[in-house]
Amino acid sequence: SDDISPSPQIEYDRLLGGLLIEGFDEKSCRSRYQFARYHKSPSIPSPYLIERLRKQELLQKKCGPGTKAYKEASKQLRSGQSQTTNTTDCNYLILTIHAGLGNRMLEITSALLYALLTNRILLVDRYKEIGDLFCEPFPGTSWLVPSDFPLSYGEFTQSSPESYGNMLQNKAAGGNTNRSLAGTRPNYVYLHLDGNYGFHDKLFFCEDDQQFLQGVPWLIIRTDMYFVPSLFLIPGFQDELSRLFPEKDTVFHHLARYLFHPTNNIWYSITKYYRSYMAKAEKRVGIQIRIYETKGILQRNGPFPHILNQILSCAQNEKLLPEIGMMEGAAAEAQNKGAAAETQNNQTIVVLTTSLSSWYSDQIQKKYEEHPTVDGTTVKVYQPSHEEYQRSRNRKHNMKALAEIYLLSMNDELITSGFSTFGYAAQGLAGLKPWIMFRSENHVTPDPPCGRVMSIEPCFHQAPFYDCKAKRDTDLGKVVPYVRHCEDVSWGLKIV
Ligand code: GDP
Repeated sequence: SDDISPSPQIEYDRLLGGLLIEGFDEKSCRSRYQFARYHKSPSIPSPYLIERLRKQELLQKKCGPGTKAYKEASKQLRSGQSQTTNTTDCNYLILTIHAGLGNRMLEITSALLYALLTNRILLVDRYKEIGDLFCEPFPGTSWLVPSDFPLSYGEFTQSSPESYGNMLQNKAAGGNTNRSLAGTRPNYVYLHLDGNYGFHDKLFFCEDDQQFLQGVPWLIIRTDMYFVPSLFLIPGFQDELSRLFPEKDTVFHHLARYLFHPTNNIWYSITKYYRSYMAKAEKRVGIQIRIYETKGILQRNGPFPHILNQILSCAQNEKLLPEIGMMEGAAAEAQNKGAAAETQNNQTIVVLTTSLSSWYSDQIQKKYEEHPTVDGTTVKVYQPSHEEYQRSRNRKHNMKALAEIYLLSMNDELITSGFSTFGYAAQGLAGLKPWIMFRSENHVTPDPPCGRVMSIEPCFHQAPFYDCKAKRDTDLGKVVPYVRHCEDVSWGLKIV
């Protein structure tokens, strides 16, 4: 039945330490109050974060779609007139969504933090099946941009006149040495923070620019990145951030668990899979296999023996999985019966793999089926799907991806693939520090095959390295002790 905890050893708190509030209809979104049963959080949210989330909920309700405040603000937006005074205290952050699911979860979480820091209402793109994947996070209102929203926000590009970077660039090109836009006060600004962004777009991460943006009622943001680490480098946000997150490396963990609640169909498939294959094991090990190497277009995901080798070396070196005895046939049988009596145990380890390809898990499964393990542990390998290639515009495909991110997060240990936001999302939800597999080059298994990460936070891949005050490039991985370069992406930044 629904009421039995799948892991009796987890004493669960359905409200996640106060992140969630009572009062949502449980039946229409079961995952909201049930996720707590499936993971053990290493951290409790600060009272101040909880207070700010409650304040945000009130703001979302007061200014959200359908309210008088929203109607007024969008009327002003439609009229295109610059405001002289702000008629309401409702300011908005509109997030346009694209890219894969892991990226989406990172960008939505980054946007929520930015909304909290700047007292804005967060509204997300309604056209990217977000409503099929996730329940509404805020009580009594919707976080989806209404369909009659006056701007075609999906059409903005880096070079649109409304683009902040472009505005700054034009100002500079016009011979104005002062790059600030002081004196102007547009109704809305488009922020281009995609991986391909340029110098002027990146000035978003400067204090002066933040002060300017504070006065703009509507911000439209396009990003595919976890830009949180760079918010920690903006002096004006630092006090508030340390109050919100006394444990700095829990930003994604708390905000993602606050925001993301898979819809009932997806949650049903997650919990059914968990109960069928994972619940009874003594230990669960998740292995996320994401391959960026290619061998011609036909062999997008291999099979690559060097990656199989990397996975097994990592799991066995780090003692996440037992070694296998290499004896074959009769000798193995003899060991199973006699000599191995003392090494026989009743432990089962379940390995939950996720990958676009089924070859890796089949091979791991085969290895453990054909050979006894040295300590007698039984190893079983399961993989929920193998979609072969990425189809981020396909609804069913995204639903499977979301289910797998959650299943990964329900393991006791994780091995993930470097560079992959899919893995970051799973580790962040779980609150686990994974062993991350380094990217291989020229089809050679890296040595060491994997390493334990410093923190559960995702990596900001295309982090800027501009020192706004000194007005020159610098190594921003060395400015404060809690923002460092990532283990897997040497030029990226992460909170530790
Ligand atoms: P990233 O590209 O690894 O950073 O992760 P994203 O989640 O942003 O994009 C990859 C997309 O490919 C996912 O969202 C899925 O659509 C698909 N994908 C990649 N790996 C898997 C997997 O293990 N299982 C499933 N079901 N889909 C995957």
